[in-house]
Amino acid sequence: MRKELDEALCAKYPLIFGDRHKPMTQTAMCWGFSCGDGWYNIIDTLCGMLTSKYRQAKSRYDYLAESGVGGILYGTKTVTQEDLDKAKANMEEEAAKVPVAVQVKEKFGGLRFYVQAATDEHYNYISFAESMSYRTCEVCGAPGERYTDGWHQTLCEVHAKEDGREKNEDDEDDGDE
Ligand SMILES: [Zn+2]
Repeated sequence: MRKELDEALCAKYPLIFGDRHKPMTQTAMCWGFSCGDGWYNIIDTLCGMLTSKYRQAKSRYDYLAESGVGGILYGTKTVTQEDLDKAKANMEEEAAKVPVAVQVKEKFGGLRFYVQAATDEHYNYISFAESMSYRTCEVCGAPGERYTDGWHQTLCEVHAKEDGREKNEDDEDDGDE
């Protein structure tokens, strides 16, 4: 994946990609995003889902903190220190649950998004994103399908033609079932 897209993902999701520049003895994220630019939107959307609860908790805390103790919310409620503490604790709790990526790459024509630990909900999002990659051209992001002649790759018709790829006739199962 090209540098600008790599940097954009790291800047947008620091909790997920905090290990991007750690040494290879600690994480495979040091290699960056080992897949084509065409999967940028899938990864971006996935990370949006993985951080959605944290972002909700953060915007609630930010809102309360801005009002400050004694501030008036919704025209009636007065913000207390307890409200602030609770919102902060909730935000920190959600931040701790955001999965940290250890490797993002292409394998057998599909996206692999490996994390240190995650909830079942997170694993469902990851699984959905990986399934979408088998239907999305890795080069340009257009609808595509997996080619299995030689090395496996998921491509749109244009990029398959460019590479001289041929569809396997017996390729009914796309490997994502
Ligand atoms: Zn394409």
